[in-house]
Amino acid sequence: MEFSQYQTNALLSITNRPPLVFTEGQGMWMTDHTGKRYLDYLQGWAVNCLGHAPQCIQDALAMQAKRLINPSPAFYNAPSIELATLLVENSCFDRVFFASSGAEANEGAIKLARKWGKKNKNSRGVDRYEIITFDHSFHGRTLATMSASGKAGWDTIFAPQVPGFFKAELNSLDSVAKLITDKTVAVMLEPVQGEGGVLPATREFMQALRALTKKHDLLLIVDEVQTGMGRTGELFAYQLSDVAPDIMTLGKGIGGGVPLAAMLCREEVACFEPGDQGGTYNGNPLMTAVGVAVANALLQPGFLQSVKDKGEYMRAELLKLCDRHGLQGERGEGLLRALKLGKDIGPKIVETARDMGPVGLLLNSPRPDLLRFMPALNVTQEEIDQMVSMLSDVLKRLGH
Ligand SMILES: *Cc1c(COP(=O)(O)O)cnc(C)c1O
Repeated sequence: MEFSQYQTNALLSITNRPPLVFTEGQGMWMTDHTGKRYLDYLQGWAVNCLGHAPQCIQDALAMQAKRLINPSPAFYNAPSIELATLLVENSCFDRVFFASSGAEANEGAIKLARKWGKKNKNSRGVDRYEIITFDHSFHGRTLATMSASGKAGWDTIFAPQVPGFFKAELNSLDSVAKLITDKTVAVMLEPVQGEGGVLPATREFMQALRALTKKHDLLLIVDEVQTGMGRTGELFAYQLSDVAPDIMTLGKGIGGGVPLAAMLCREEVACFEPGDQGGTYNGNPLMTAVGVAVANALLQPGFLQSVKDKGEYMRAELLKLCDRHGLQGERGEGLLRALKLGKDIGPKIVETARDMGPVGLLLNSPRPDLLRFMPALNVTQEEIDQMVSMLSDVLKRLGH
């Protein structure tokens, strides 16, 4: 297949894509229209937690597609109940609302917090609706989740914003405390800021934030769309700091590649009434059957420990790479890691790694001075070694 056949296409341009069409994926590898193979450290943007096309997802899709695809969200279906049970049995939450994207799950969390703030008014009898979020955070691309996000420039591109979001500084309790008013209802954060550059909230900060939110009767919302489902070596990243949030959102890894997301909350907070929240595709059995297969794979004894071990291994290998090439360092949790380059060479590395032959390497540079790694959680040690060695070649080629 020639790329020119695809060159004129009807897709709305929303991002600069390289002139490649990907046709197949297996495990950590993906193949383009010319047959060239790539070691894939994007994995659908931290989505394919079991790699490309894992057998358990193929089986779940095939089996469920034959049985029942969508009875409508007005009726119960078995896979959604099964997945909700798995999620509450393995977390501090009691109730689950399924959605199709991380942004939609976060919208649900924002709506639930605002509803709760109407029911739990302040001492003057006024509704509470303000939510404190963080600089450099990313919560999605709907209008409300863009307003909640702390990305530079996002406050003006589609102005006016959805009001009610105020930005604090990650790991600064003081910056949060200063923003609390008698209309504040919640604090929302990513336990590790993913798109912002793999910036972890510290354990001390998470614990202090939980104490502060309790003291002011505020909800603590964790956006675990990127950090959830084993990515950090715990099933959920809030577990790294031993806190129990009130609301959590999941996306990306929960579907292992298919569109599935969730909003979980504690019973005390579950205040939606019929009509408040819904969605045509929410909790459909085709996607939730995949969710069950993925969750069962992640819950196999030893699986999460292997994520921790491989995260440690990758950390050590990246530090050696830093020494060899004079780079700044690395950070992250589990298999969500970043390499600090110390100079703005990220985009050039991404391009060179992808375009080199005979085998390419797919990487992400969320900021010009940073590379982010989001491998499948079942990546092998050999695939880590191969990535580090390919990256070392690229750095040499670029004269670093
Ligand atoms: C990717 C991401 C989202 C948005 O998820 P979509 O499925 O793209 O809507 C929200 N929050 C975080 C932390 C994310 O990483």
